[in-house]
Amino acid sequence: MQPVKSVPFFSLARAARREAGLSQAVLAEKAGCRQSQISAFEAGVPGKISREATLRIAETLGLEPPPEPQPPADGAVGAAGAGLSGAASAWPAPAGLAEVSVPFCPDFQCLSNMPYFIGEQLLFLPLGFCGGGVRCAVCGEVLQRRCPSCGGRFRGHGGCCETCGRPLVELPEGVAADPREWAAAQRAAVSDFAAMAAPRAGGVPSFAARR
Ligand SMILES: [Zn+2]
Ligand SMILES: [Zn+2]
Repeated sequence: MQPVKSVPFFSLARAARREAGLSQAVLAEKAGCRQSQISAFEAGVPGKISREATLRIAETLGLEPPPEPQPPADGAVGAAGAGLSGAASAWPAPAGLAEVSVPFCPDFQCLSNMPYFIGEQLLFLPLGFCGGGVRCAVCGEVLQRRCPSCGGRFRGHGGCCETCGRPLVELPEGVAADPREWAAAQRAAVSDFAAMAAPRAGGVPSFAARR
């Protein structure tokens, strides 16, 4: 066994979570934070989750907790908490929406998600390349079929939850200095991927295949 001292905790945690077959949403629930925070944490953004959440993540995944870093950045956490998905509620989905549920990949970096802007709001459109299984066919993340904010079902349209209106996938704060620039680069990568994947995949969204 190689010593794992040089591997950062977030990287270990990401690998351990996938190994355990846990979704980011489930881990967030266990850690008492939001999925977007787990997403940012796993992307290596510092100060996104509390020390308490870090310890709970370590416990859940059977990892040695990392040494205590600097004091938690209240400002950063507060700002993130004020975001669109800040007040997660247990909103029951209307009966009519409860029949169909389509999987999507919760990873903002996944090439199955096309980032787009509506005004200042960055959203992600699941393109359907993630497949219909347990894990994303593109990146291996555990797929979700429900809104991470309210638990409403995803029916395969758009980047917002049809029940609560919140984004299904979010760009974690601190990942990109310029979200528009990041989104433009990511769109190019997604388009390239779509062009490769389109001939083999069934039911490819027309706008993805057009390019
Ligand atoms: Zn994925
Ligand atoms: Zn929702």
